[in-house]
Amino acid sequence: MAKIMDMETKIGRRFEGKVAIVTASTQGIGFAIAERLGLEGASVVISSRKQKNVDEAVEKLKNKGLEVFGVVCHVSNAQHRKDLIQKTVDKYGKIDVIVSNAAVNPSVDPLLRTLESILDKLWEINVKATVLLLQEAAPHLQKGSSIVIISSIAGYNPQPAMAMYGVTKTALLGLTKALATEMAPVTRVNAVAPGFVPTNFAAYITKDEGVKAANEEKTLLGRLGTPKDMAAAAAFLASDDACYITGETLIVAGGLPSRL
Ligand code: NAP
Repeated sequence: MAKIMDMETKIGRRFEGKVAIVTASTQGIGFAIAERLGLEGASVVISSRKQKNVDEAVEKLKNKGLEVFGVVCHVSNAQHRKDLIQKTVDKYGKIDVIVSNAAVNPSVDPLLRTLESILDKLWEINVKATVLLLQEAAPHLQKGSSIVIISSIAGYNPQPAMAMYGVTKTALLGLTKALATEMAPVTRVNAVAPGFVPTNFAAYITKDEGVKAANEEKTLLGRLGTPKDMAAAAAFLASDDACYITGETLIVAGGLPSRL
């Protein structure tokens, strides 16, 4: 408990009494966001495709004294999405925050040689699943609730080796605006666009010292991002500190070139 008290004094308790769902949250950025919301007082519902990963992540967060509940949810599975929302409402009675974090990048093929099945998968998981999850959640969202969608710096300038992935992240910038319009004034909708964050998903960023150093040098701050950097931004947007912000995307990329 002493450990949590130390963190509390540094990061506050903005989510006391709030219920937060984070998708794809058993490792990496999603896990860090779940942990941050929990440290700030939220009851956190974590999820991902594999029961074993869910159980391990729940255990880690419980060991830190956090209120956490785990549900298996492959975001493109309709029954899983239904379960995630229903089990959350059965356990905690409401939903205040949803962080939509799941994404895949299954191909490095150029766009003109990417299989249709891969294009469909990218659209389904990276874009469509957010809309379908929110359709399911909408009746339970409280006044003052908040959605945070995890986009990417790649959305501003899709790179050749992950072009269609980048395009799905561009779509999330538009989706954030469209959902913000539709869900106001009850619910705010914003996005975080991470830069380079070495996780399993982005292991290529640090595949050797040369590549790592080159990526660090591309940033103004001279370092790669951490899941905790992303969690701080997501928690800000989800919190009442951002109560007059909706439809916006916060780039958290150490100054990587993005937009004016
Ligand atoms: P990560 O560390 O590899 O974690 C991926 C998580 O997603 C795992 O918990 C995994 O658990 C879960 N997952 C994978 N597919 C899923 C699905 N279909 N449904 C539900 N859960 C699923 O990845 P990350 O780097 O944190 O990425 C998180 C988000 O940040 C993604 O939206 C990504 O596009 C974005 N992003 C990352 C970077 C970066 O540099 N890392 C940069 C920009 C944007 P299971 O295996 O148990 O499902």
